[in-house]
Amino acid sequence: MGSFEITELGTESCPECGRQYRVRYQSLPLKDKDDARCVCGHVFRKWNETGMYMYQEISEDRE
Ligand SMILES: [Zn+2]
Repeated sequence: MGSFEITELGTESCPECGRQYRVRYQSLPLKDKDDARCVCGHVFRKWNETGMYMYQEISEDRE
């Protein structure tokens, strides 16, 4: 088995609270059943496949 590839999917913003997330997808050797939620509770995505989505909140840097 090779390494698990990570694909950059860009950014997504929450329609409920407006927070921005960096989205990545990682392949896995086994099926993963999970979901990705915003901290406000909004469900971005649900999946049941050989991979997982990673949502990382982008903090706003203001000067
Ligand atoms: Zn939200």
